[in-house]
Amino acid sequence: MGTIDGLPPLRDVIRTHDLVAKKQLGQNFLLDLNLTAKIARSAGDLTGCDVLEVGPGPGGLTRGLLAEGARRVVAVEKDARTLPALAEIAAAYPGRLTVLHGDALELDLAAHLTPPVKIVANLPYNVGTELLIRWLSPKVWPPIWSSLTLMFQKEVAERIVAKPRTDHYGRLALLAQWRCDARIVLTLPPEAFTPAPKVHSAVVQLTALPQPRFPCDFGVLQRITAMAFNQRRKMLRSSLKGLGPQVEAQLDAVGIPPTARAEEIGLEQFCALARQIA
Ligand code: SAM
Repeated sequence: MGTIDGLPPLRDVIRTHDLVAKKQLGQNFLLDLNLTAKIARSAGDLTGCDVLEVGPGPGGLTRGLLAEGARRVVAVEKDARTLPALAEIAAAYPGRLTVLHGDALELDLAAHLTPPVKIVANLPYNVGTELLIRWLSPKVWPPIWSSLTLMFQKEVAERIVAKPRTDHYGRLALLAQWRCDARIVLTLPPEAFTPAPKVHSAVVQLTALPQPRFPCDFGVLQRITAMAFNQRRKMLRSSLKGLGPQVEAQLDAVGIPPTARAEEIGLEQFCALARQIA
């Protein structure tokens, strides 16, 4: 059966290039081109944008991004076996796909991108959270990218968008929501992937705010949220004891009861506490 871009169906690509999925590379492929086009569309208008994709694999999402009109896709892939398949896509979209062979955690990706930039990826589960934290933590804000559209395990997606007083609320929610609007735009069952993982997945859309939602020093916010959520069931006067004997007075000064627990405190109050401590 023909495909919209004239390239072979993904099952044929996998067979031709013998791309047997490797668990250690987090390889759970999306083979339905309608679905990859839908994920590409959830990133909004791509025309005029450079799109960074981490882990293109056999190229299903890459093809979606190109078909949806991305000015250029820069795709970083660790698995050399996928390179011939990706070269076929590059030939079908002359000048619009650049493939970088290497580890996304080690390459200087910004050097290959020209703004405006969007990042769209079905991330390998083993490095997904680390990449997200890096993208959320540049020295200068706003960052080079305007939005992130990322597939995670559903449980991680829920941690990113979680609100106070819910089970998934913690550091990842605070870090993401401090500088971004974050929402889940799509959830997918295991059967959507080949091979099927054990868990459900979800696509999160993060849009960079022009400036953080509330002022405070990033390092201090990181430190206090790490301490507070490492012992999330303890009262803050106890979990934050390491900040010094004045911590109860500092909590009082910003209107946080020292007997409150981390999961009850919203982003605005954590930022106020970070300012007080700084
Ligand atoms: N985008 C494809 C799709 O949606 O079908 C593949 C997604 S699969 C979940 C993750 C991909 O990331 C694999 O192709 C894997 O080889 C690649 N990968 C794993 N670790 C990587 C890393 N550190 N840097 C770059 N790519 C990586």
